[in-house]
Amino acid sequence: MSLKWRIALGYSALLIVAMTVMSGIIVWRFQQILYNQAQTSVNATMKAIVQFAQQSTTPFSLEDSSLGTLQFLFNSANLTTWNSANSYVQVDSGDGYPLAKTANLGGLTIPPNPKVSPVHDVAFREVTLGARSFLVEDRYLQEGVNAAVIHVAEPLDTLQRTFSRAREAIVIVLVGAVGAVVIFSIVFASQATTPINELSREMREISSDRLALAAGSFDGGLRGNALPRRRDEIGRLAKSFNDLLNRLGEAFARERQFISDASHELKTPLTSINANAQMLLRWADQDRTIRRESLETIVRESADLAGMVNGMLTLAKADRGDEIPKEPLSLAQIASEVTQNGASRAAEKQIDLRFEHEGTPIVYGDANLLRQMIGNLVDNAVKFTERGRVDVRVGENRNAAWVEVADSGPGIAEEERDRIFERFYRADKARSRSVPGTGLGLAIVRSIARVHGGEASVGRSAGGGAAFRVLLPRVKLPFTDLS
Ligand code: ADP
Repeated sequence: MSLKWRIALGYSALLIVAMTVMSGIIVWRFQQILYNQAQTSVNATMKAIVQFAQQSTTPFSLEDSSLGTLQFLFNSANLTTWNSANSYVQVDSGDGYPLAKTANLGGLTIPPNPKVSPVHDVAFREVTLGARSFLVEDRYLQEGVNAAVIHVAEPLDTLQRTFSRAREAIVIVLVGAVGAVVIFSIVFASQATTPINELSREMREISSDRLALAAGSFDGGLRGNALPRRRDEIGRLAKSFNDLLNRLGEAFARERQFISDASHELKTPLTSINANAQMLLRWADQDRTIRRESLETIVRESADLAGMVNGMLTLAKADRGDEIPKEPLSLAQIASEVTQNGASRAAEKQIDLRFEHEGTPIVYGDANLLRQMIGNLVDNAVKFTERGRVDVRVGENRNAAWVEVADSGPGIAEEERDRIFERFYRADKARSRSVPGTGLGLAIVRSIARVHGGEASVGRSAGGGAAFRVLLPRVKLPFTDLS
């Protein structure tokens, strides 16, 4: 059963039960009140008769004065006072034999009540006489050795009519209310579930194409739809769903971009290798120069290719950060080794490459990756600097260790500082063309920094060039000596 029907039926059932119980209580109370009223009025008549009988001091029969005042009651003529539309009176002898009654009873006789006796002298009951029902009060009256049983009856027709009219009214109201409740519940439940259905329909329609479209646009995903603008739980659900889609879309777009960039970058050296191999096939035997140049190109391009594939592998490794084995390492020691490795290349370009450190910060990480990270920064600094100096510095503050590679080269334009960390991005195309590279170096630096819980950034060095800085979380190991 759908949620809509479950809500509607559950809600209706609850209200119907509540209303029925309430109506039942009202009907029962109402009946009780009406019945009590009838009892009071019958009882008033009874009291009047008894009082009247007891006040009659004159013996009514000269033949048998021992019957006393009861004699008065045994005469139908004396009962006419109580002969009215609302009261019917009958007087029996002590052993239940009817002796007198009001004229309105006609041929009807009120049957004796076996419950009434000298011990239990008053009782109320309902009796059917002819086709009508009556409320009857029976009373046992003793006077000396004589006894009488008085029955006072009041027709229940009016009461029953009133009561049945009230019951009808209540049933009509109840049926109406139940109908209204059922309709209201269904409407309410549909209102509550329609947006959920809409949401799931929208979700089914989302394909990877739409995901890609969603990327970068804030109302992506469930676009052209009012759901995310709702101010309730559904709105919030739709909004988080959209955010999720946007993030997924961005991730997919990055992935696609990476694949397209990577294939493009790999294609260039491969095309060159292929062309040179064909040259070799044709000319290798005839022309030694061509053979030499082609082979040199192939060697250079395939080295580039290997570099790029290595870079991509490193990136993939860094992306799976949690699988990297980490240990406490001295950042200064790694940076110093890397600087030494770059010394010969710097010397070729007459660049003054220096290393210095303030303190010996310990970081928790993978030595090879950190070496590659600093190595890429030093390589770039040497590569892009024509003359001057490159400074590699390591230091620490309260919580972080840092490594900085600053050069006196051309620097990086403000607007390019964000983009140079992207995969395959190379700033200033003209310069990049004259300098070999893959555009992966800084993307690797940032990935490695992040996988170690740090971040890489770039600014301007004191010498006017670029200053790259990587901040890494510092480990405090008081008793470890790693130097
Ligand atoms: P690659 O060095 O292979 O081109 P990188 O990702 O290492 O790729 O660098 C991206 C771009 O950032 C480079 O193409 C270059 O334009 C710029 N860049 C990197 N390091 C420096 C630097 N020290 N000085 C000036 N520009 C730099």
